[in-house]
Parts: sequence; C-alpha cells; structure tokens
Amino acid sequence: MYSICTLGSHCALQVLKGAKDENFRTLLICEEKRINLYNRFRFIDRLVPVKDYRYKNVCSEHVMNDLRDYNCILIPHGTMIANMQVEEIESMRVPFFGNRYILRWEADRVLKERLTIESGIRIPRSLSIDDLDGRSLAIAKLHGAAGGKGYFLVSSKEQFMGYYNNLLRKGIIKGMEDIYLQEYVVGVPVYLQFFYSPLSREVELLGIDRRYESDVDAIGRIPAMQQSHTNIDDITYTIVGNIPLVLRESLLDEAYRMGERFVDTVRKLIKHEMIGPFCLEGVYDRDANFIAFEFSARIVAGTNLYVNGSPYSYLLYDEPMSTGRRIAREIRLAIDSNELDKVLT
Ligand code: AMP
Repeated sequence: MYSICTLGSHCALQVLKGAKDENFRTLLICEEKRINLYNRFRFIDRLVPVKDYRYKNVCSEHVMNDLRDYNCILIPHGTMIANMQVEEIESMRVPFFGNRYILRWEADRVLKERLTIESGIRIPRSLSIDDLDGRSLAIAKLHGAAGGKGYFLVSSKEQFMGYYNNLLRKGIIKGMEDIYLQEYVVGVPVYLQFFYSPLSREVELLGIDRRYESDVDAIGRIPAMQQSHTNIDDITYTIVGNIPLVLRESLLDEAYRMGERFVDTVRKLIKHEMIGPFCLEGVYDRDANFIAFEFSARIVAGTNLYVNGSPYSYLLYDEPMSTGRRIAREIRLAIDSNELDKVLT
C-alpha cells in the first residue's frame, strides 16, 4: 500500500485531501510551528515533525525512515523549490511524482526562456540599458528575487541609474550582472493550470487564476495624483491570494495548444517527459496575445481555488477534481496498470 506525502505549506491541504479521496494513506512532513494548523484536518493520517524545510531536515534519517516505512510517494511544490537547491532535489532518494529534472530549467532564466521560446510561446523582450529611450516601460528584475521583491519599473537611463545606485549602496546588488532588464508588457495577468498525463498522453486544462498581489494591486486604489505621495518607490508583487478566472472561450484553443507545445518541447529537450501539473504564467495584451514571463513545472498554489473542481475540470470530469486529486488519480491508474515508472522520477 502506497502513501502520498508532501511538505506542510503551499498546497498541502489540497494534495492530501485529493490523495485521501483516491484512497491513499497520507503523510505530511511538517514544521513544528505549523503542526497546530495541520492537526485540524482528519484526512492527514500522519504528521512527521521537522525543524524547517531545508534539505538536511527533510532528508534526515528519521524522516527518510518514516517515508520508507509508509511506502511514500512525494509530491513536490513551491515550498520545496524555495527551500532546497536543485541539486538537492535531484539527489533525494524518495519516489517523486513529476519530472524532477525539469526543475533545473525552471530555476535558470536562460534555460527557462529557451524552453518557452522553443514551445512557440511569446516572452517579453530582453533589454539593455541602451534600449531605455524614455518612450516605453521596462521592468528590472533582481536575480533570485522571491515574489518580485526589489523589482522596479523604468523608462529612461537616468531613472534606471537612480534605482541602480540606490540598490548598490544598500548592498542589495553587486553590479549589473544581478539585474535583468525586460520589456514591461501591458496586459492582464493570467495563470493557466495544466496537467499532462503520461498514461493517456493528453494535456488537460484544470483551472485558471490570477494572483492578488500587494502592492501592485493596491496601487490602482489610489488616484494618480496621490500616488506620488505614497512612500512606494519600488513595486512589490507579494502574493496574498488567488482569484478565479475563466477565459474568453475563443482563447481556449490556443491555451490548450500552448500547453501541448510545452509538453512536446519538454520531451525534446529534457531527459524525461513532462509528468503531471504545470502552469504557464503571463499576461494577455490588448490584442489578446499571451506573453509568458514564467512557467512552473509542478503544481502551483493557484490551484487551491479549486479543491472542489474548477469550471474547466468539471467539463472533463463529472466529479470534483482538484489538481491534487488528479495527481493521486494518475498515481492510482499507474499502480493499477503497472506503469508507476511513467509518473515517478
Ligand atoms: P516574476 O518574478 O517574473 O514571476 O514576476 C513577478 C510579477 O511581476 C508577475 O506576477 C507579473 O505581475 C510581473 N511581471 C513580471 N514580468 C513582467 C513583464 N515583462 N511585464 C509586465 N509584468 C511583469
């Protein structure tokens, strides 16, 4: 008998509820300070306490013994990616649902852009300082910044140098190599939540959301005249929650095709094909073209909206189907057809 296991954060509730609905035992590796929260939910069979989610604690002997005793399959999510190095995740000796080798492509900006471009998905143009001619807007990103922290918007070289020198003085950056300048795309943010089944070889669109981010979603509540009186000189994109979204139906076909091209490109470029959930993250511009600034090659927290299914999952399944439950269903089908190697790496 297999158990499904994940780290206590991000989308753990959805993942373990889905696992229980598919009749798996469930196990949660849980930071001590979060035990109180997760103890409330009866679909969690066992909590394994850890000090925090760093590799040395999650992969300690006592946790690994528990995972082995319970015959666990680990479901990775954003908290794992944020707390561990790619090399650490690749070396974990636990059956892992999903393609662990793609996480390297998600973490590296150059690889990420290559995979996106080769999938025929538009991305924002990369810019140099000389492109800042005062006529259009650019977004400056700090490498490795979580949640867009420290990002700033500029249109001219002078503006750029003001921000740049300030970050240098504060010791936040060491030089130009820490900054990545990109065309700012005016459009509305959309997160397309897909699932690829290596068993049926089909891409499913399971949901769509947008993020609710502070302070970028707060700034529109202040009239332009008063905006300059706030003390906000850099825009943060701290995620506070997610908002459900449905797409104009005429955009759905191309959304599906982007998902399919992404899966084809992963098959071509990476040593294992795509497995399970992934998300294309970008904006739709005024001509309804999708321009992607990110992808996530694993479950995203925006799927938490749809614990009971989304409008799109309901079109595919006549029962509540969250992404978490879909993962467990795929594992169940793989066990039944003796094809677990297709969904684990
Ligand atoms: P990222 O760290 O790339 O996920 O970016 C954080 C946030 O910045 C995103 O959620 C977007 O809202 C915004 N963003 C990133 N890149 C761009 C871009 N090129 N144009 C417009 N908005 C962007």
